Amino acid sequence: MTVEPEPRNEPRSAWHALAASLAAIIDSSEDAIIGKDLDGTITSWNLGAERLYGYTATEIVGRNISVITPSDRLDELADVLRRIERGERIEHHDTQRLRKNGSVLDISVTISPVRDSTGTVIGASAIGRDITDRLSWERERKAIDVRLRQSERLESLGQLAGGIAHDFNNLLAVILNSTTFIRDELDDKEAASADLDQISLAAQRAGTLTRQLLSFSRREVLKPQIVNLNDLVTGLEEMLRRTIGEHIELVTAPAHDLCSVEVDPGQLEQVLVNLTVNARDAMPDGGLLTIDTDNIDIDAGYAEMHSGLAPGRYVRLRISDTGVGMEPSVLEHIFEPFFTTKPQGEGTGLGLATVFGIVGQAAGEIQLYSEPGIGTTCRVLLPATDRTPPDVRPAGMAQDLRGTETVLVVEDEDALREVTRRILAKNGYHVLTSANGPEALALVKDHEVSIDLLLTDVIMPQMYGKELAARLQTLRPGLAVLYMSGYAQPVLGPTLGHDAMLLEKPFSENLLLTKIRAAL
Ligand code: ADP
Ligand code: MG
Repeated sequence: MTVEPEPRNEPRSAWHALAASLAAIIDSSEDAIIGKDLDGTITSWNLGAERLYGYTATEIVGRNISVITPSDRLDELADVLRRIERGERIEHHDTQRLRKNGSVLDISVTISPVRDSTGTVIGASAIGRDITDRLSWERERKAIDVRLRQSERLESLGQLAGGIAHDFNNLLAVILNSTTFIRDELDDKEAASADLDQISLAAQRAGTLTRQLLSFSRREVLKPQIVNLNDLVTGLEEMLRRTIGEHIELVTAPAHDLCSVEVDPGQLEQVLVNLTVNARDAMPDGGLLTIDTDNIDIDAGYAEMHSGLAPGRYVRLRISDTGVGMEPSVLEHIFEPFFTTKPQGEGTGLGLATVFGIVGQAAGEIQLYSEPGIGTTCRVLLPATDRTPPDVRPAGMAQDLRGTETVLVVEDEDALREVTRRILAKNGYHVLTSANGPEALALVKDHEVSIDLLLTDVIMPQMYGKELAARLQTLRPGLAVLYMSGYAQPVLGPTLGHDAMLLEKPFSENLLLTKIRAAL
C-alpha cells in the first residue's frame, strides 16, 4: 500500500470523494484494518477493529500496538516490525491479541509495509481476522481423525486376532500330533527325532506369530539399546543366507563410520528377517539380494516433502532384490495387515505391517520402490544417535554363566526337576536331585557330599522349602539357598523373608543360570 501525497492537478472534491469512499469500504469490512508506524504507534483503526477489539478509534489511535498484544507475544511483535521495516510482507500469520476486556483473541493477520512516494517504508497496515471458529473446528477435526484412526486400528486388530487364532490352531495341531507320534515311536529313535524337529519348528512359528502380533499391536516390551546396524547385519548374515537358499546371492555393503541408532535390536532383527523373506519369495528362480547401510542427512526441504520425518541425521538400511517386483495396485496395500498375494498357508500378510509398526515406533520411516519384472528396493530410515554401543565382551554371555559347583535341586514336579537338572549339568554344574524335603535331608545326612547351593521349590507336600533350607543350613552352615516358585516375590516375601532369593517360574535357561551365579 502506498500513501500518495494529495494530487495537485485533480479537483479537490474528486479526491475527497475518493478518500471518503475508500474509508467507507475499509469501515464496512468485517476484518480489523489497522495502520501503524514503525515503532508500533497506531495511526488508523477501522470499525472492524472496534468490533473485534472493543476499543474505539479515538481511544486507541496514538497508543502503541503493544496495548493489544499479550505479553508473551511482545518479542514476536518486535520481530514483525523489524521484518516490515526491511520491506517484507507477512501473510496469514496465526497469532493472539488482547481485547479491551482483557480476553485473548485468536487471529490471523496479514501485515504489509506502507511506503511513501520515495518507496521508503514508513509504517504498516495490518488486516486481522478472528479465527476462533476455525481453530475450534480444526481441533474438532483432529479429535475426529484420532477417533477414526483408533477405530480403524481396532478393526484391523480384530482381523489380526482372527488370523492369528486360525494360524495358532494349525500350529497347535502340529504340536499335539507330533507328541502323539513320538509316544508311539519312542523305540524308533530316528522317526522320533524327525517328529521332535516338527514340534520345535511349529513352536518357533508360534513364537514368531505372537511376536508379530505383539509388535503390531505395539504391546511388546521395548528394550531400546544403542545399536550399530552393521553389527546387526553381520550377526544375522549367516542366518539370512540359510533362509534365502543357495539360488540367491547375498551381498552386504556396510558403510564406514556408520552412526548408531537407538532401537530394540530384537525388533530390528525382525525387520531384517521379514524384508529378507519377502525378497526371497520374490526371487523363486534365484537372483541378487543386496543389504547396505549408510548415513543420510535429511534437510528441512526433504522432511517437508516426505512427511513425518524431522530434519537431521539418519541411518539408512536398504534391502534390494532383483525379484518379480510389484504392480502399483499391490504396492498400495502392502503395509495393511493380512494383505498378501501369496497362496493360502504361505503368506500371513503380517510381514510388512509389522515392519511398518516397528520402524514407526523407532521414529523412522520406510519406503518401498518397486518395478514389475525389475525388483524391489526397501529403504528404512532410522534417526541416528551420537552415542556409541557399549563394547561387547568377546567371551559370550553363556560362558560367564557356567559353573562347576554342586547344586541340590529339590522339586516335586518330575518334569521340571529333570529339565532343571539337564540345564545345570549342561552348564558344568554337579547336580543332585530330590523330589521332596525329607528325601533331600536323608540324601545330605547319608552322604558326605559337599553342596554349594540348594535350589528348592517353595510349596511342596511334606515339607516347605523354607523349613528344608533351615534344616539343611544347620547341617551345612553357609549353604546358599535359591528358591523357585510360580508365586511372585510379593506373595512369598512375607513367608520367605524379603532378602530371600527367588526365581520365578516359568524360567528360561538364561534366567536360571543368572540367578544361580548371583546366589553363589
Ligand atoms: P506376506 O509376505 O506374508 O505376503 P508381507 O506383508 O510381508 O506379507 O507382504 C505383503 C505383500 O507385499 C506380499 O504378499 C507381496 O505381494 C508383496 N511384497 C512384499 N515384499 C515384496 C518384494 N520384495 N517383492 C515383491 N513383492 C513383495
Ligand atoms: Mg512377508
